[in-house]
Amino acid sequence: MTGPEPASADAVVLGLDLGGTQIRAAAIAPTGERHGRRAAATPLAGGPEPIYTACAALLAAVLADLPSGMRDRVAAIGVSAMGPVDPWRGTVVDPPNVVDLRDAPLADELEARLGLPAYLDRDTNVAALAEHWLGAARGCRDFLYVTVSTGLGGAIWRDDQLVLGPDGTAGEVGHVTLMPDNGPRCGCGGIGHLEAISSGSGLATQARDIVAAGGSAFLEARSRAAPITGRDVADGELAGDAACTRLMERARRAFAIACVGWVNEFNPERIVVGGTVAERQGERWLEPARAEVARTALRDPARRARIVPAELGNDVGLVGAWPLVKGRHGDPVWRARRACG
Ligand SMILES: [Zn+2]
Repeated sequence: MTGPEPASADAVVLGLDLGGTQIRAAAIAPTGERHGRRAAATPLAGGPEPIYTACAALLAAVLADLPSGMRDRVAAIGVSAMGPVDPWRGTVVDPPNVVDLRDAPLADELEARLGLPAYLDRDTNVAALAEHWLGAARGCRDFLYVTVSTGLGGAIWRDDQLVLGPDGTAGEVGHVTLMPDNGPRCGCGGIGHLEAISSGSGLATQARDIVAAGGSAFLEARSRAAPITGRDVADGELAGDAACTRLMERARRAFAIACVGWVNEFNPERIVVGGTVAERQGERWLEPARAEVARTALRDPARRARIVPAELGNDVGLVGAWPLVKGRHGDPVWRARRACG
């Protein structure tokens, strides 16, 4: 293990992005360039060991392919993983879709297998670090990052740093109740949460209920070909299906109402919106949020907040590895709590 000195400005970082379906890895240069990019399917059977092995193999392959001038500058590993995570201990805590990783000491396992220090945080926090470094939040002291994808989550950046909270869960903005009485059930067990209304998995769950009730010829036809996804609902709206249009309008409206709350609560300079659902919808998703904030949020924070698309796309979890390591490597806070496990 290398010593506690901070990562130098020309350090290279190994980035690992562990998702529910795919693991991606690359070396990240101090310019943000990605080298030796690799990907593999996440092994979802057989406990945590095959996942550790797959992650370590990808990182070892990235390392082996680097030119020696870069390999000598590799300082540490930065890991983006599905939440919730304990960033101090470097553990994945209780991911709803990958039960094999409950309380998994991922950072320790990678340190032992690669011989490099490893730092881990939730995917949305790593994405916020990336967007602040090289993306849509450059130069912001206060912003929110929100992703609308399979799930709906976020990160809070306050006074030029991430807000973690004592459990590392700050920024989980998707689990707020917007429909307390008759709302759809959320993956977390709650009722009417923003994630259940507006995320890809939430749209898919609502769509399956509509198919079961015989409420949409479009969705019924799609469901015969493959399991329904959020994308099918968006396609249905474009095709003029009434049930899909209602779901998509409600998804955008719930997101817009949530933005009003975030603007009033956090007074952000920007709300940076990423994730596949929001990216495919584009301005169709962002414009109602801007209009709702202008109409109903408190005057001064509403004038300040800009709601903008994320800029780094799929690579956000890899790019963020560099500022993750840069901010934590050499800071004793980030190793003390792991040691007292
Ligand atoms: Zn929830």
